[in-house]
Amino acid sequence: MLVRLPLRTPFTSAHGTETVREVTIVKLVAEDGVTGWGECSSLGAPGYAAEIGTASWDALRGEIVPALLAGGSWRDPSRPMASAAVDTALADLDCRSRHESLAARLGGSRSWVETCAVIGLVPSLDELLAAASARVADGYRHLKLKIRPGWDVEPLRAVREHFPQVSLAADANGSYDDGGAAFPAAAVDSLGLAYLEQPFPAGRLDLAAELGARAATPIALDESIGSVEAARRAVQTGAARVLNVKPARLGGIGAACEVCEAAAGLGVDAFVGGMLETGVGRAAALAVASLPGCSLPTDLGPSSRYFVQDLTEPIEVCGGRIPVPGGEGIGVAPLPERLASFRVDHAVLRP
Ligand SMILES: [Mg+2]
Repeated sequence: MLVRLPLRTPFTSAHGTETVREVTIVKLVAEDGVTGWGECSSLGAPGYAAEIGTASWDALRGEIVPALLAGGSWRDPSRPMASAAVDTALADLDCRSRHESLAARLGGSRSWVETCAVIGLVPSLDELLAAASARVADGYRHLKLKIRPGWDVEPLRAVREHFPQVSLAADANGSYDDGGAAFPAAAVDSLGLAYLEQPFPAGRLDLAAELGARAATPIALDESIGSVEAARRAVQTGAARVLNVKPARLGGIGAACEVCEAAAGLGVDAFVGGMLETGVGRAAALAVASLPGCSLPTDLGPSSRYFVQDLTEPIEVCGGRIPVPGGEGIGVAPLPERLASFRVDHAVLRP
């Protein structure tokens, strides 16, 4: 079903602004009545990825789920986020049928995960510092600022100076797209960032490797990492010292776990990144974030940061940490009354 949740406040990155969150929720029901849930977290407009929400809904309803029900090959490499929704629903259903949690199934070692609060692009330094102050007051010890050309060193330095006790990172979402000339590497290096995420467009591993070779700040990659092979290549070429692991971008839970294992094997850090998920996608991603290979704080946020009402019981940050749902499967399920009020379209498919 296609659901539309109002965001508490618009969220802006270098890719654009999201004002509502429209996602496809997949509900799989086995013959014995056990149910599995998954979320397709593609965004409303291209930018972060070519895959967008309404097209994902059409693909899931028209091709991917019918292929699954027919017993055929249903994964679509060109639609990792739609594929991840089915992958998660299958994993959730299987874990629920065995009365175990997804996190335990995956080998998760933590029931709480340290979190990093992400602050989107805002119009002024005053608003930025107010947002940072609120997060620090909430107990966060890690902040990540969205940056782009023209909004980079000054905001980062302002937060660094006002909150010297917090760990600070930056995410450019690939916005330095002029061949790297505009990126203020020396100034950014002076700020002691935990990492700099995706400075250059997804396909420019060469620029990331070149910057990685001369900068002290570790380079993290997000949009560039579409597969386990891409993750290995990025690390081996020196383009990344940190991997952002998103089950949605990688096509599912299994691939996300493989990237975490690859990171540990290659000796680099990894963390699970958020996609403005509802509780369904957030819970599944948290199961991955509980793995030992996730060595840095997740940037999955609490329900209340994004939604007045989440689709599930809220998953909230407490003291800068977020709980890994420990119930069967992903540990949460959509609340029927929320599904009814947020649903804008649905389809029922049978084998
Ligand atoms: Mg990112």
